[in-house]
Amino acid sequence: MLAERNRGYFEAKNIAALNFVSSPGAGKTTLLEKTITALKEEIPFFVIEGDQQTMNDAERIDATGVPVIQINTGSGCHLDSVMVNSALKQLSPDPDSILLIENVGNLVCPALFDLGEARRIVVISVTEGDDKPIKYPTIFRNADLCIINKTDLLPYVQFDVEKTKEYARRIQPQIEFIETSATKGDGMESWFDWLRRQRSA
Ligand code: MG
Ligand code: ZN
Repeated sequence: MLAERNRGYFEAKNIAALNFVSSPGAGKTTLLEKTITALKEEIPFFVIEGDQQTMNDAERIDATGVPVIQINTGSGCHLDSVMVNSALKQLSPDPDSILLIENVGNLVCPALFDLGEARRIVVISVTEGDDKPIKYPTIFRNADLCIINKTDLLPYVQFDVEKTKEYARRIQPQIEFIETSATKGDGMESWFDWLRRQRSA
């Protein structure tokens, strides 16, 4: 019910709310930094950062110049709709903007908490192992997009991109994929196009 309240808020203000989930260290914050820096003149962004402790990620986003709220979950391991609702009251995102919600790094229970987002994006990095989709199927079940990040490291690791896609499609046949290296810039234009489509939708 509380997630639906957030969803109604987003719909009324035509805000595209995106929930980014991944294990710790997949590159969510770097992806967001690079995205905001590249597109902030074109798209109004607002950001909610979730971590157990520290303001580190909010400080990185703040340096890009867009409004950001850090939620510290303490011993908690995911964001929920109540946390997002109270962050929204402080953040007050503009109509027609994109709200980027970076969830706590955790492939398990963030899957179970609807925040009211329009789209859920799973970020996996090639250093994690290509069998993540079948080991952690729940997080893929409701995902719209899987970003396979750190592709610049593929020559150094044993990671089969096609196998990962096949595993993820077993769980969620409609899932889309974009391969990126957020640090080197590979694939980022495809990701930006996907993001633009969410805004016009
Ligand atoms: Mg982060
Ligand atoms: Zn949790």
